[in-house]
Amino acid sequence: MNKKVFITRKIPDLGVDMLKVKGYEVDIYSGDSVPTQKQIIKYLKKKPYDAVVTLLTDHIDAKIFDTVPTAKIFANYAVGFDNIDLEEAKKRGIIVTNTPGNYSVCVAEHAIALMLGLTTRMVEADSFTRKGRYKGWSPNIFIGSDLTGKTLGLIGAGRIGEKVVFIANKGFGMKIVYCDIKRNESIEENCGARFIPMVEEVLREADIVSLHVPLLPSTHHLIGAEHLKMMKKTAFLINTSRGPVVDEKALVKALQDRIIGGAGLDVYEFEPKLVPGLAKLSNTILTPHIASARESARNEMAKLAAQNVIDFFERKTPTNKVV
Ligand code: NAD
Repeated sequence: MNKKVFITRKIPDLGVDMLKVKGYEVDIYSGDSVPTQKQIIKYLKKKPYDAVVTLLTDHIDAKIFDTVPTAKIFANYAVGFDNIDLEEAKKRGIIVTNTPGNYSVCVAEHAIALMLGLTTRMVEADSFTRKGRYKGWSPNIFIGSDLTGKTLGLIGAGRIGEKVVFIANKGFGMKIVYCDIKRNESIEENCGARFIPMVEEVLREADIVSLHVPLLPSTHHLIGAEHLKMMKKTAFLINTSRGPVVDEKALVKALQDRIIGGAGLDVYEFEPKLVPGLAKLSNTILTPHIASARESARNEMAKLAAQNVIDFFERKTPTNKVV
């Protein structure tokens, strides 16, 4: 019997075709918007699927596993896997995979773009110009700050963090301080990055703080009200990791009270909702979780997710096995 795969949202054809070429039966959720868990369950009840390809917007827990007990692999189409109850999966012997790939550089570039956007005040200035408020050159409008020569405080020096460090140091001559639960020798040797074991010390030293940790119980609200107070008044916070790493209510308060200089966010604590007040702040740049939204990246993610499913069906250990 053909293996049956359900994909919770349309992903690039490249991945879907890889599964079809193998003769698997592939069904895809047909809606345009994020499916609710109820909608996913409705689909999963239709067939005894052997594999499910999920997205980071899908909440995958015991309820889903109970609905489709035949599915022994959940291949997440994302680097993060905080949307899946890993403990429950492990208990049931279900394999979970993710899609970390060569596209880390996209997210790194997006983090750098948010930094530049804040230091140059480009987004505010664009809106000002479009509104017809530009009445001639002035020495006093939109005074920004330099990125070159400043200190980057990196929290999480994995695949993406490492790339941010290389661009920041080689491109902008930034000094690097970083913390992680393990040291990254490559950025220390190649970019002179200084390891600081305490997050608090990184926050005190940095002109720009960029977050690149996974969302785990240990990183939930890693940046809260007290941490924001440790940052320089002029410092910017960049978050392209996961929203709940930052206590966003505390962040809005810190931005309103000018405790810090600004924030560039691609992810949100209550995504897709924004906490009250955030959208009104001019010292922020907000993008809708698009740091990996490049054709090359999305194709690679689709390929990796499909390959993980294929490996599993062919009795190999998927390269990107999380549990
Ligand atoms: P990675 O696993 O390569 O790196 C994460 C780093 O964080 C590791 O070095 C790890 O040791 C460190 N870390 C873990 N817990 C820590 C803690 N408590 N304190 C300090 N450091 C800690 O992951 P990556 O590929 O660099 O991706 C990082 C995160 O970025 C992903 O987990 C994902 O949530 C997010 N992401 C977001 C987008 C987006 O579109 N915005 C795209 C891809 C990934």
